[in-house]
Amino acid sequence: MIVVCPSCFKKNNLPEDIAVSEAQCGQCDHDLWSSQPIALNDDNFMLYVPNTELPVLVDFWAEWCGPCKAMAPTFERLAGEYQNVQFAKVDTEAAPKLSQFFQIRSIPSLILFKQTTQLARSAGAMNAGQMQAWLNAQLN
Ligand SMILES: [Zn+2]
Repeated sequence: MIVVCPSCFKKNNLPEDIAVSEAQCGQCDHDLWSSQPIALNDDNFMLYVPNTELPVLVDFWAEWCGPCKAMAPTFERLAGEYQNVQFAKVDTEAAPKLSQFFQIRSIPSLILFKQTTQLARSAGAMNAGQMQAWLNAQLN
């Protein structure tokens, strides 16, 4: 599996018998999977999401958005529980190009990516149970 390092954005060719959550980058030694959401922006998003074979769940949010802030702790907690998915956050204020490209009309919006494919989208805040049920349904 090709996994992009969330630190240096180099591609790593990971043997199938090694879990992503156990692996380090051959280039910079950084963990290839982060239990905390990684921050993606207009500059690094296209280096990461289309090139990694790990599914990426992206939370499009903004500082001024109350429901986004309310959902953030849930998102962070679940990020550590799904070791076959990398959770990521995009600050829509800081990444206007991405927000426009993915036609983000309301936040929070979640998009589950598998490289260039959008496997699923969900707009509006979810609680932990709703988010788990939604994500599990997409991953099965
Ligand atoms: Zn690296």
